[in-house]
Amino acid sequence: ISARQYEPLTTESAIELAKKLQLFTNTSALTCEEIGDGNLNLVFRIVDHHSKKSIIIKQALPYAKVVGESWPLTLQRATIESHALRQFADVAREYVPKVYYSDQQLAVTIMEDLSHLDIVRKGLIKGKNYPLLSQHIGEYVAKTLFYTSDFALDPQEKKKLLKQFINPELCKITEDLVFTDPFFDHETNDYEVELKNDVESLWKDKPLLLEVAKLKEKFLTNSDALIHGDLHTGSIFASDSETKVIDPEFAFFGPLGFDLGQFIANLLLNAFGRTNSKRQILFHHIDVTWKTFKETFSFLWKEHSVEVFSKVDGYLDYVLQETFEDAIGFAGCEVIRRTIGLAHVADLDELNPFESRIAAKQNALQFGRELIKNRRNIQTTDQINQLFNEIV
Ligand code: ADP
Ligand code: MG
Ligand code: MG
Ligand code: MG
Repeated sequence: ISARQYEPLTTESAIELAKKLQLFTNTSALTCEEIGDGNLNLVFRIVDHHSKKSIIIKQALPYAKVVGESWPLTLQRATIESHALRQFADVAREYVPKVYYSDQQLAVTIMEDLSHLDIVRKGLIKGKNYPLLSQHIGEYVAKTLFYTSDFALDPQEKKKLLKQFINPELCKITEDLVFTDPFFDHETNDYEVELKNDVESLWKDKPLLLEVAKLKEKFLTNSDALIHGDLHTGSIFASDSETKVIDPEFAFFGPLGFDLGQFIANLLLNAFGRTNSKRQILFHHIDVTWKTFKETFSFLWKEHSVEVFSKVDGYLDYVLQETFEDAIGFAGCEVIRRTIGLAHVADLDELNPFESRIAAKQNALQFGRELIKNRRNIQTTDQINQLFNEIV
């Protein structure tokens, strides 16, 4: 099978593949559905109606699904995704779907079906809470970052691993869509005419652009650790007791603060549409995410660091401080991108009535801008909440 030519799967050929790989013992009652709602890839769910066993087959297309064939995109991302799932499972198994099979030629990853859980973005929009979400994500990010950084790996080993995750095309998407296009009058931008003044005021804000340039530079150049690269709430499945992180096709060696920033931004994006009392739970999650990250990362540093300087007073604090500051800045860029750039979020786009949607987006733009410009003065998660209350 692995020598096979690439072809996009259909529901029929996906079943054939599952049969050939003997993923089901009895194949008389298999059904298959394409359930992908993401921007880039095909996702098939195959169910055996006898045993109730099910699997997911994710396949990359040679282009981005949202845009179509005019936006070619490397199939290599499927290999990055399956390698990253395995790498992350090595250090944070409980938060990663099991991978049953992957094939570089077919650009497929076959994995555990997580349909018993909710996509967190959808649940949050309905007002659901996932009590352990932030504790789990804080731990997931701390472990995946620490164990792939120079604090845990011999620098030679780290560079070997880094080479497996050179991911220029997917990095370019983030470089353009998160760090560049929203800050200029670019054709990929997408916003209501009612936001024209707010958007133009961002583009004219020279001190803002300087800070965005610094954040983009970090994303381009800092190879701190293997980051997920797309850790928004649509990449997380959860229930009251479980959390699983999917879709690491953007993984590469990047800055420590990026995943935290994206996750926090997507909690904030949900907060703009909520009343004050219903918002507090999101700030609680932001608080717990950072607290758990910090505690877990510090523990791992003290127990497992191989870096001789790690015992020097102040070094851990310096790394944590820089990670926090970067996370706040990256969060600001993500909030702005999801408001006026390409690929919006339903948390804002589905707000009604229209006037509330526009008001929420105006707040989001203002808040994103303040996060980026004031990130050095924001020392605690409580100050994120205070800044939010000043704007909203
Ligand atoms: P994309 O890279 O195109 O964004 P995702 O990996 O985010 O693709 O998957 C898109 C959708 O497919 C998810 O929102 C979810 O509904 C479904 N999906 C993906 N992986 C699984 C899984 N392991 N179990 C159940 N559903 C899944
Ligand atoms: Mg996705
Ligand atoms: Mg650095
Ligand atoms: Mg994806």
